Amino acid sequence: MELHDENSFKIRGYQNAVFNLDKSDVDLTALGLQELEQLDGVGKGIAATIFEIATNGISEAMQQYFESTPEGIVELLDIKGIGPKKIKVLWKELGIESGHELKEAANSGLVAKLKGFGEKTQQTIIEALEFKEANANKLHYAEAELLSTEILEVLSTITEIEEASASGGLRRKLEVIDKIELLVAGDDFDKLEESISALEAFTQDMTNSGPKTWRGTYKEHLIPCEFTFTLSETYIKDLFLRTGSTQHLSVPVLEKNTLRMLANERSFASEEELYLAAGMDYIAPELREGAFEIQAAKNHSLPKLVEMDDLKGILHNHSTYSDGKHTLEQMAVYCKDLGYEYLGICDHSKSAFYANGLEENRVKDQHDEIDRLNEKLAPFKIFKGIESDILYDGQLDYDDDVLASFDFIVASVHSVLKMNKQKATQRLLTAIENPFTTILGHPTGRLLLRREGYPIDHKAVIDHCAKHNVVIEINANPWRLDLDWRWVHYAIEKGVMLSINPDAHQMNGYHHMRFGLLAGRKGGLTKEMTYNALTRDEISAQFEKKREQAKANA
Ligand SMILES: [Zn+2]
Ligand SMILES: [Zn+2]
Repeated sequence: MELHDENSFKIRGYQNAVFNLDKSDVDLTALGLQELEQLDGVGKGIAATIFEIATNGISEAMQQYFESTPEGIVELLDIKGIGPKKIKVLWKELGIESGHELKEAANSGLVAKLKGFGEKTQQTIIEALEFKEANANKLHYAEAELLSTEILEVLSTITEIEEASASGGLRRKLEVIDKIELLVAGDDFDKLEESISALEAFTQDMTNSGPKTWRGTYKEHLIPCEFTFTLSETYIKDLFLRTGSTQHLSVPVLEKNTLRMLANERSFASEEELYLAAGMDYIAPELREGAFEIQAAKNHSLPKLVEMDDLKGILHNHSTYSDGKHTLEQMAVYCKDLGYEYLGICDHSKSAFYANGLEENRVKDQHDEIDRLNEKLAPFKIFKGIESDILYDGQLDYDDDVLASFDFIVASVHSVLKMNKQKATQRLLTAIENPFTTILGHPTGRLLLRREGYPIDHKAVIDHCAKHNVVIEINANPWRLDLDWRWVHYAIEKGVMLSINPDAHQMNGYHHMRFGLLAGRKGGLTKEMTYNALTRDEISAQFEKKREQAKANA
């Protein structure tokens, strides 16, 4: 509608309706026209549109917008950093109708010359397009895991397949997956290839397939797949060789022998046996990156990785007090039902006006409700937290006496994400120095496949957290997984505890905990170094201690 100069009141009406409906649980397809009209922010006109979409899949107006907009323009709307108003200028004034054309125009400097654009916007556009290109067809781990389970299920209908399993980055649980890699065992490779290609869900890429490898895509989402065929006798060997990173397989382990050479030398009944033959302890697939794990396995000092059962509570969650979908009580009861001992509620602070952040008087209301619920739900406990915005200069956005009213503070950056490394790092260091900061939230602000994080000096940030007794979050949302697992080992070495936080904005968000756990395990995270593996009483004592110190220093 913005592209086509629609009435701005009408546009705002739709934005408002979407904002309200996004937060609610109603099943729009189940409601009649009159019921739809009763919904918050939905008037007669929008109700009719929703009803039309529920009945026909698309509304007539929407159909018309699509018909009068080039497909490339619709795609451009996806790019971070340029809104519909700018896209309209690009389209109407430069005749740009695709990402490719936009990139050419930006690279030749034409975009910067447009009114309201400039060099900076042009650079943002180039970077956003490059980022998009580099990430096309990639998946974050949670989605890849779901799809690979589905694919394995489909393949299980082929009787010639004796065994099949995830391999490669998928088995190592990397945060971003560029193809679904599976190892498939069977006697007759030609037959395997034929049977897979015969399945409707798969489309083979003939030119890139080989006698032992089926390459192609899955379903209409065009998910790249690579299935490697092997015999039952060589299944363990190939699974091993196709799991570890190149580095993991290339480090000398026995005199001059590498794990790769050892695996090719003779056959082993299991991966455990293979590591044993190398004089090493068994290394879990997610650790096989060629980092610290080889030496640790030789010294028999591999960490005992944290497990789901070790996690005692869920910190950093939102409710309807800010931008969450479910009420505080719903969030608490569901957390309790899942078997956790405590919940940390961390709605947005007052600077986050876009997310309905809490002004001081609403903080007080929430604390009163928490007190009431804690009586009702005991011994389960809700801790009073807040996700306090880190302002551009590193300050938190409440006064000390308000900060002191919380049990704990998660400090996060949500605005002014474009900073150079030095400034962004200094901003975090200042926030870490604040005596009230308990946990540093999503340290880089990255959104995997969507937005690069702001650049930070990880070492300096981790060292500063060690010095000021601040915990670092592993944000468990599959799009974030921030702190990156590559820094987990360093943090642990420095004695910095890590908190696996789902940043849930609805009850279902708790189930992301598992992905944060996997990211932590990839970096060697143990129960001892996991903050939310502390029991209710232990973490309560930690919060209290930090708060007393802060009050003394404030
Ligand atoms: Zn946040
Ligand atoms: Zn949050």
